[in-house]
Amino acid sequence: LPIHEAVLGRAAEFGETPALIDGVEGRSLSYAQLDAFHRKVAAGLADAGVRKGDVVALHSPNTILWPVAFYGATRAGATVTTVHPLYTPEEFAQQLRDADARWIITVSLLLPVAQAAAELAGGIREIIVCDEAEGHRSLLAMVGADLPQPSVGIDPAEDLAVLPYSSGTTGVPKGVMLTHRSVATNLAQLAPTMPMGPGDRILAVLPFFHAYGLTALLNAPLSHGATVVVLPKFDLEGFLTAVEKHRITSLYVVPPIALALAKHPVVERFDLSSVRYVLSAAAPLDGELAAACSARLGGVPVGQGYGMTELSPATHVTPVDRPIPHGSVGKLLSGTEMRIVSLDDPSVDLGPGEAGEVVIRGPQVMKGYLGRPDATAAMIDEEGWLHTGDVGRVDEDGWLYIVDRVKELIKYKGFQVAPAELEAVLIADPRIADAAVIGVYDADGNEYPKAYVVPAQGSALTAEDVKSYVAARVAPHKKIREVEFIDTVPRAATGKILRRELRK
Ligand code: ATP
Ligand code: MG
Repeated sequence: LPIHEAVLGRAAEFGETPALIDGVEGRSLSYAQLDAFHRKVAAGLADAGVRKGDVVALHSPNTILWPVAFYGATRAGATVTTVHPLYTPEEFAQQLRDADARWIITVSLLLPVAQAAAELAGGIREIIVCDEAEGHRSLLAMVGADLPQPSVGIDPAEDLAVLPYSSGTTGVPKGVMLTHRSVATNLAQLAPTMPMGPGDRILAVLPFFHAYGLTALLNAPLSHGATVVVLPKFDLEGFLTAVEKHRITSLYVVPPIALALAKHPVVERFDLSSVRYVLSAAAPLDGELAAACSARLGGVPVGQGYGMTELSPATHVTPVDRPIPHGSVGKLLSGTEMRIVSLDDPSVDLGPGEAGEVVIRGPQVMKGYLGRPDATAAMIDEEGWLHTGDVGRVDEDGWLYIVDRVKELIKYKGFQVAPAELEAVLIADPRIADAAVIGVYDADGNEYPKAYVVPAQGSALTAEDVKSYVAARVAPHKKIREVEFIDTVPRAATGKILRRELRK
């Protein structure tokens, strides 16, 4: 099915149930409204000239109109390229050019950025706003108009629904071509792992422009009749206030939020008893930390999911009906195949317990990177296996454990050291609020692990304390050999540590 039908196919049945609530201002949209509005927007966009296959850039923070714009545009036959709302005009222009976008949908607040980006990129036919801005077509006006529905034939297997850009954690962000079928199939694969329905309230604090937020916070809850409470950005108190006020039942988070839930003193001031389920994905979450987070929330399950933009985005999620082994990211979703292959020779398959590269084949594998056949061929082999670049191991029962990214592994005297493991050891220390580890080189060109540490409030931790604490807990080759104290760990909107910033 086209993605808007896969998600909103049951909207009529959910009727007056709130689909989306603005978590700050309280405005809401019922399922009936969401369904009607996205059709109106499809008609309005078609009237503006949007045609099948046109790329529409959606440039907005999380709002209740974001999904109206998204599903409206896909219904009009467009491919939506989702844009980070904090991009500079130059970054935005680069994506517009790369994606060959024709249209921008933005919000009045970001209009100057969108205008500057359109100017730089060229080729933009029109800038439309979600709200209202003088001289611009608006989604709100489209919702009030009465235009004929466009008739577009969408071929779910071929036509692109969404063109998100990979996070750019390890290089330049690349346009990921996802068809209607790959996204809709992943949604169906995820359904049994996401038991949500009318009455459940999901807090949408992760960005919708990223594949994780789009799936976990919009596609999944809206296909099940749950209510999505929308926040435009993350700040811990605002997030906790929203959980309490809206009686949130499920939290989809990234590890830094789990870390805050486990450790931050301010959490005690809020009533979080409505929360029954937490899931973390997008970056490594240590088992200890997951347990601490669960304990702080009265014992609720804290699960994990694993995936990447190129996988529409998920391949593994922890099941809801049984205990989760310490640190596992879950089990393979139905209809998906996985192998663990040797880092030295990808033609060698490894057995249970052995760590190697995670390789995936299934309906959720992307069509490719837009305009980058070489990068596509480097990632997806001739038999359709996508090489994730992540190191993992599977136990006898099929539970997957992610070790780290291949590229991040530190080679210390021929041994491989995973920064994620050292980071987990560091943040388990109550004297440490947050930490990141990278490989740096000595004068002879030998790589060794260096830690960047944010001390907990009031702690008088020294570099020697950090080194000896870690040395007591890991094998000698994994010892931290250098420590630098910093105020915050640089992270992307998706919670990933920006190691290149640390390297700079
Ligand atoms: P780029 O590919 O542009 O460098 P990115 O890989 O960070 O950016 P995403 O697609 O957002 O872009 O992230 C996918 C990556 O996130 C995975 O390859 C993996 O390294 C990491 N990841 C996702 N889920 C988990 C998890 N549960 N545990 C550990 N790592 C995870
Ligand atoms: Mg990646």
